Amino acid sequence: MPPTQPVLSSVKISPRGTARLKDGHVWVYRSDILSAEDVLPGSLVRVTDHRGKPLGTALYSSSSQIAIRMLSREMPSHDPVTDFPALLRQRIADAIAYREPLVHNTEAYRVVFSEADFLPVLIVDRYGDILSLQILTQAMDAGPVRQAILDELTARLHPASIIERVDPRVRELETLPPRASGLLQGEKSGTTFTMNSVQFRFDALEGQKTGAFLDQRENYAASAQYAKGEALDVFCYQGGFALHLAPRCSRVTAVDSSRPALEVADQNAALNHQLLNDKEIEWIEANAFDLLKDYSSSDHHYDTIVLDPPAFAKTKRDLDAALRGYKELNLRALKMLRPGGLLVTCSCSYHVSQSSFLEMLASAAVDAHRTLRLLEVRGQAKDHPVLLNVPETSYLKCVLAHVS
Ligand code: SAH
Repeated sequence: MPPTQPVLSSVKISPRGTARLKDGHVWVYRSDILSAEDVLPGSLVRVTDHRGKPLGTALYSSSSQIAIRMLSREMPSHDPVTDFPALLRQRIADAIAYREPLVHNTEAYRVVFSEADFLPVLIVDRYGDILSLQILTQAMDAGPVRQAILDELTARLHPASIIERVDPRVRELETLPPRASGLLQGEKSGTTFTMNSVQFRFDALEGQKTGAFLDQRENYAASAQYAKGEALDVFCYQGGFALHLAPRCSRVTAVDSSRPALEVADQNAALNHQLLNDKEIEWIEANAFDLLKDYSSSDHHYDTIVLDPPAFAKTKRDLDAALRGYKELNLRALKMLRPGGLLVTCSCSYHVSQSSFLEMLASAAVDAHRTLRLLEVRGQAKDHPVLLNVPETSYLKCVLAHVS
């Protein structure tokens, strides 16, 4: 028997919200909701314009500022969504297939990247045979929906275990009951994975984000191509850049303020002793701003410097302060680079656009009396796709420049 078509509640949106969707975006803010009567939190809804003309099917959140996340548009080529779990399963399969020709030379990558894979607020990362997932909205949290996600991931990727990482703050914002991070399936919570021939330790229940900064995977490999001499990796976390640069460099020093991150970094270096030819990486626990200030005024010089700070601009309001922070770091790094050196400088703040980041860098170069030639202007790895009409999916900037 064919599944009976559920009757979906309707949400009416303002002309401004409609215009946003017509421009190809997939979100509608709460301020653009005209009516959402009897709509249950986390339900699938029919979205209409202010006259009642259908625009598509969406997930509804009763508490997030992003009230509507579109799943499908009202177009002749699109069937209306009648079976949400089946749609999810198909989209997970599509996300896996999308990456097959794009992702090479790594056992760790992002399998599902939220709206960029048409799976709003679902994030799945793979570390060898462990999957780590994050469910960040009401609709994805319902029992049958969770089960469909787990079933499809298991059928396609055969993981030894699946772990859920919970951000308690997000659950609170979404008015979801508290939940602990932990294993959803299987027992394995730690492994070693290889990325670009470098080995890393992964412990699913520790670490920042979902374990490693997978979005930098292609930037690690690109930077290693140009790296040389004495290198300094600032904001090194568990050694992503440092370990990739070390085989090409005579010495590597790496700095982070987090002792637990540096402890993992040191374990990672031990895993790679062959690749590193027993070269030691010096891990320094320090505040990067203080250390750069100190080093740049005391005649420390390098041939390669990486700057990969945390996001300085969490909101639009932080933009000016963030740009000042980036400039200070870049200015100090430029002063310490020897002629012919390599600067790898990153920003993962969505609110800092690529053009304002490059402008900041140009201004730092002038102040440091250095000339920069752009080798590569890069973004996030291809397993973190960017949806052109949804600018929020593009956040990482990574500039590689030759300094003279
Ligand atoms: N380059 C890393 C990712 C860096 S994430 C990689 O590729 O894996 C940002 C890092 O900055 C985190 O590890 C955090 O501990 C560190 N951090 C944040 N503020 C800092 C500060 N003031 N000084 C030094 N490290 C800092």
